Amino acid sequence: MPLTALNYDDQGLVAVIAQDAETGEVRMMAYADELAIEQTLMTGLAHFYSRSRQKLWKKGESSGNTLRVRSVWIDCDGDTLIYMVDPEGPSCHTGAETCFFRRLGAEGDLAEAGNDSAAPTLLRLERTLQARKDSDASKSYTKSLLDAGPTKIDAKVREEAAELGLALIGESDDRVASEAGDVIYHLLVGLVLRQVSLRDLLSQLSSRFGQSGHEEKGSR
Ligand SMILES: [Zn+2]
Repeated sequence: MPLTALNYDDQGLVAVIAQDAETGEVRMMAYADELAIEQTLMTGLAHFYSRSRQKLWKKGESSGNTLRVRSVWIDCDGDTLIYMVDPEGPSCHTGAETCFFRRLGAEGDLAEAGNDSAAPTLLRLERTLQARKDSDASKSYTKSLLDAGPTKIDAKVREEAAELGLALIGESDDRVASEAGDVIYHLLVGLVLRQVSLRDLLSQLSSRFGQSGHEEKGSR
């Protein structure tokens, strides 16, 4: 398989970023040589080149925490790839979901990220809502909604959807964005209540790419 678009460094490697194909979270970064890329394309599982062991490395070969690769993207000058992945289990050898769980502060100091992670906004929101499950309902609106249960959340989703509808009809762009945010927030609270993950929601949406909206509605 000639991989002519690739621009290897003097050790025959390119950098690879593994990114969650649904949530957008960057899971890890490693290197790949030609063999690792070929194995990735052939098997649909992320392979890298281990610089410390100087050999081909199938991600998850010992931990079982593989990365299923949906697509591979190459940057403009050919020296960096993105594997768009479906992660199986945590991606970091420490047991963390992503390798990027520490933040460099302004002074160069290290801080554990907690919920304030490098994750994209919706994933941060989901993790924040999940953390609120263990908080005090008198201090957390999210916790009070979760405690009140599905009937209360149903009422809030409907109320916010109606407000969004009115904003769409006759209010400013800022109002539309703000009301849409309220809908998404309450919707995610409902998913957290039901333990349906944001990833499952996004998978539903992405499975519809390439399918017309009419077809999709007809298939339900
Ligand atoms: Zn790691």
